[in-house]
Amino acid sequence: MFIIGLTGGIGSGKSAAAARFRHHGVNVVDADQAARVVVEPGRPALDAIAQHFGTGVILPEGGLNRAALRTLVFDNPEERRWLEQLTHPLIREEIISSLAASAETHSARYAILESPLLLETNQSELVQRVCVVDIPEELQLARARARDANSVDQIRKIMAAQLPRAERCAKADDILDNSGSLEFLNAQVDALHQKYVQLATQT
Ligand code: ADP
Repeated sequence: MFIIGLTGGIGSGKSAAAARFRHHGVNVVDADQAARVVVEPGRPALDAIAQHFGTGVILPEGGLNRAALRTLVFDNPEERRWLEQLTHPLIREEIISSLAASAETHSARYAILESPLLLETNQSELVQRVCVVDIPEELQLARARARDANSVDQIRKIMAAQLPRAERCAKADDILDNSGSLEFLNAQVDALHQKYVQLATQT
């Protein structure tokens, strides 16, 4: 399967672009979703986390208390590393198996991996081509704020953990300009979809 990585900073419009690719019958595998799936109740990672951090990170219904876990690893690089060493390989496996199922579940000849940290992690090894959703930082901040309850400070912190705009764009094979309307974005996605269908048939 021909696989495209879709990335961009927080609030850039990855989900919006992904929705339009899905509209064309493309399987879009969401790395954030994979990260949630691997710690669902019944998965071995959740037991390992509970054993390591204590039952305070488990909600009464049995799910992971993300806020509690975030607080525990926030200022503790060693604990953060422990958690990442446990979850990152599992997330990668989850992504790989979801992408591998694309041919059976979806009509399009290519699939997409949507990830905010595609270029910051080894997830980029899973894709043949990189598509970046790009917007000016001020607009990114405004849209992220309008969507989430996060403060400007929190959003800026998340932005600081991601590649700077120029570096991200320098790594792109294709760029979606999301500084305009949704119609403008969708039209660009439609054109890219045609291009990817062509590329997928050639590979
Ligand atoms: P990401 O997935 O990259 O974090 P989203 O796709 O969720 O970003 O977009 C961030 C916010 O901006 C959402 O509330 C979304 O509805 C809105 N948005 C995305 N693209 C546009 C656009 N072209 N015009 C106006 N609002 C947009």
